[in-house]
Amino acid sequence: MNVVCRARLRVRVTGTVQGVGFRPYVYRLAGELSLGGFVLNDAHGVLIEVEGSAPVVDRFLERLPSEAPPLAVLEHVVSEDAIPVGDRSFAIRESLGGEVPDASVMPDTATCDDCLRELFDPSDRRFRYPFINCTNCGPRFTSVRGVPYDRPLTTMSSFAMCAPCRGEYENPANRRFHAQPNACAACGPSLRLLGADGEPIAEDPLAGVATALRAGAIVAIKGIGGYHLACVADDERAVAALRARKHREDKPFALMAPSLAAATSLVSLSPVARDLLTCPARPVVLASRLSDAPVAAAVAPGAPELGVMLPYSPLHHLLLFDVRATLVMTSANVSDEPIAYRDDQVLDRLRGIADLFLVHDRPIQTRTDDSVVRAVPQAATAETIPIVTILRRSRGYVPASLPLPGAGTPRPLLACGAELKNTFCLARGRRAWVSHHIGDLENYETLRSFTEGIAHFGALFAVEPEIVAHDLHPEYLSTKFALDLDGVELIGIQHHHAHLAACLAEHGETGPALGAIFDGTGYGLDGTVWGGELLLGDTRSFRRVGSLLPVALPGGERAIKQPWRMACSWLSAAVEGEPQLPASLADRVAPRAWAQVQRLAATGTAAPATTSMGRLFDAVAALAGIRAEINYEGQAAIELEAACDPSERGSYPIAVTGAPLVIDPRETIRAVAADVAGGESAGAIARRFHRAIARATAQACVELAGAHGIELVVLSGGVFQSRLLLESVWSLLTDAGLRVLVPERLPVNDGGIAYGQAAVAAARLESPSPAPLS
Ligand SMILES: [Zn+2]
Ligand SMILES: [Zn+2]
Repeated sequence: MNVVCRARLRVRVTGTVQGVGFRPYVYRLAGELSLGGFVLNDAHGVLIEVEGSAPVVDRFLERLPSEAPPLAVLEHVVSEDAIPVGDRSFAIRESLGGEVPDASVMPDTATCDDCLRELFDPSDRRFRYPFINCTNCGPRFTSVRGVPYDRPLTTMSSFAMCAPCRGEYENPANRRFHAQPNACAACGPSLRLLGADGEPIAEDPLAGVATALRAGAIVAIKGIGGYHLACVADDERAVAALRARKHREDKPFALMAPSLAAATSLVSLSPVARDLLTCPARPVVLASRLSDAPVAAAVAPGAPELGVMLPYSPLHHLLLFDVRATLVMTSANVSDEPIAYRDDQVLDRLRGIADLFLVHDRPIQTRTDDSVVRAVPQAATAETIPIVTILRRSRGYVPASLPLPGAGTPRPLLACGAELKNTFCLARGRRAWVSHHIGDLENYETLRSFTEGIAHFGALFAVEPEIVAHDLHPEYLSTKFALDLDGVELIGIQHHHAHLAACLAEHGETGPALGAIFDGTGYGLDGTVWGGELLLGDTRSFRRVGSLLPVALPGGERAIKQPWRMACSWLSAAVEGEPQLPASLADRVAPRAWAQVQRLAATGTAAPATTSMGRLFDAVAALAGIRAEINYEGQAAIELEAACDPSERGSYPIAVTGAPLVIDPRETIRAVAADVAGGESAGAIARRFHRAIARATAQACVELAGAHGIELVVLSGGVFQSRLLLESVWSLLTDAGLRVLVPERLPVNDGGIAYGQAAVAAARLESPSPAPLS
């Protein structure tokens, strides 16, 4: 062939292109087109050179993105001419080491259909092998120790592949070509069954566990991102025992159903919820529980929803197949500790909780909890409101990057996030990597996950932070961590501004917008506890243009755990003289304690001022007799929403006055108190209260938007986890002609703060002088 009409292209592909079967795909495509050249993984993604006749090379470039494998996400395909060298054959070359890594590390992905077929095929060599995987499925993020993503830099490095596995791994035509966790029973990880004291049990581990579960045992099971504690979900005795042993009084347990059909007997599933249950990320899906759902009472006391997921690892598939029952699958920990994931600690940490341990020898590099999402029945909502909200973004979603709006950040940065539901975020250029759910930064374990996680992400995504963004709260451990760092530039960012910016940025916008940011606690610019904020701002800066009426937080932190204290505080603000202990709290609060708290509220001693919307919901939940003390964060508000009587049509009066604007619910509180005294049902009170807050919020937003010439409203903050409130405010605002944004890719709660801090820091670096906000 005449060398002159030959062409050679160098093609650089970035995005999620490693560990997803992209190289074998390129190899097959090049082979089909009889092109020469090579493909390789490097630190930036995938590098391809193809050589052949010019039109065929063009066809290759055309087909490359459109026929890519299912898990691949191509962000950029950049090609340039190269000089033909006469390549006639195509090869997959070894990864290049020694460069700055820039490649996407994949999230962990549920077992694919091909692997499932093999798993249950008696003639397959991996029949019932609990660690089966391929290029399209299996552990990724939780197993990666470094980049490029290759076996020596994963938790599989100590397993030498047997000849058949090696053959698959090296054969570009095979589904397991360069599947880094590739293994079989002959060469890969294996299960072991241990008794309560850690002594090995000489029994088939899966058969042993299935029998024990059916007999009522509680079993610690090593999964993809950590250990679960499992028991049969409709076994009243076992579930009650698990709850008692975990010291977890009310917080609902997640369930793992053996099949989609089994899930439909537990919860009401919209088509969207079904898609979520079966998507490769396999999150826990919250959905309305069916009244006859076959689960023990202790699974989710008082909760109108159940959290259900489907098996996502081969081990889960085998176990659920053998047990043939829905299991409780809750993170293996005690109370608020993070999920256990290290084999050397698990026996100690779970001693006295688990009757058996189902363990294996594939290490978990990064502890990663199950993600939690909620799908809302579509019929009930306005047409444009998002029907999926993410409450915890972790396994299956992390570490996929999110874009930053505009030009992104001119310098690499770290955002340290908040204190509760902590995540951190690293950003470089237009990309931001939000971490897995770290948890509440209140003990050594979570703090260690936080600091180690930052180092790990920094290495994976080649971010050496020059800028560190942090919350203004001086007592947050994430703030202290930031302030302790040497040689970086610090940017302090107000908590609710971060909420506003996170929502704008994930939608690719920079504002200005009006934000109604309602949550429990955030450090205000004036040093008080903010949490019911109306902010006018963009990703760069903000002004507080309104808030909830401030009241006392009697006893500080204790008022968060004891909503009755907020009932006392709000009554003190709303009524003349000293408020009486309401009948609804008479059997839960001692008169002396009530009098003490009332004094704190009146004098302001040990009672900082707060505009927290979360605490107002707490107060009403307590007044309505729904909950005087909580056992987990947000419990009172969750139960108040659950109590709402859908047939109730009434509302309460509520004032929206002044400039800066104040949402003043004192009249509301008086009306609630009158209803309580008159014996009105908690369901009616709860519904009227939600309606009053929604109306006041919408009125405040409409007035402020008009006054400042703004058409865009952002709703965020943990209080908007209340679907009822979110939908009500959404409809009122859209009816008023405003455009509304809510977080969709990140949680509305503090799990989204780090990304918001990154967005604000990036915007400030990009344009140091503020654009004046009217
Ligand atoms: Zn597979
Ligand atoms: Zn093998």
